[in-house]
Amino acid sequence: MDKKQWLVLLPKLAFLLMLISCVLLSVFFLMRGAELVSSSADTGLNTLVIDPGHGGFDGGAISDDGSKESDINLAIAQKLRCLSELLGQPLTMTREDDRIRSEYAEYSEHEDLVRRTEIVNDTPGAILISIHQNDFPTGQPSGAQVLYAASSGSEELGRRCHQNLITQLDPQNRRVAEPAPKALYITSHVGCPAILVECGFMSNNFEVQKLCSSAYQCSIALVLTASLLQYLSEAEML
Ligand SMILES: [Zn+2]
Repeated sequence: MDKKQWLVLLPKLAFLLMLISCVLLSVFFLMRGAELVSSSADTGLNTLVIDPGHGGFDGGAISDDGSKESDINLAIAQKLRCLSELLGQPLTMTREDDRIRSEYAEYSEHEDLVRRTEIVNDTPGAILISIHQNDFPTGQPSGAQVLYAASSGSEELGRRCHQNLITQLDPQNRRVAEPAPKALYITSHVGCPAILVECGFMSNNFEVQKLCSSAYQCSIALVLTASLLQYLSEAEML
């Protein structure tokens, strides 16, 4: 092959080499992509389970002005759902409204808690935030407090939520996040990261006024949403 023939062949060889490189690179990226999709499928997305405490016949604690804990819990939970949905966070709720689920004679608080716990334990990658309000025989105590389950991740999530609630909404609050008592059924019977947020006291009339206001409910929901994102980010679960 003389010099003239090489000069004709060279561009064709270069094109062929480029073509082979492109095919090899494509195969590499396709395999890498499949690997990433498969690992994300293995990990699974985390699903926020929002549990508005009480409901139906069970109003929870009732304030002096007749406000029901179950209504406040639901209002905060619905706002938490809206904000979480806006951010694309997969979620489910243990109740969506205040409809009565059973006849009064058949109603059992224990069975209701068992049903809620089953929803949590049946949800893959669940993270539970249960919304409640506190109550006390006298009207003085006030302030939010987060109780966390013994399961892995609960303390981190609980401390994060509690600290943010205090810093953002109530800097005078001297309460601390604590392990949930064993008597609390739902936090004692779930295996996922789980917290119960007591947003305030139904026995404190001034606090009940705040808890009934849509703006304050939004603030609580916003702090909980941001805290969950911080928790997921720190746990590299996003
Ligand atoms: Zn309650």
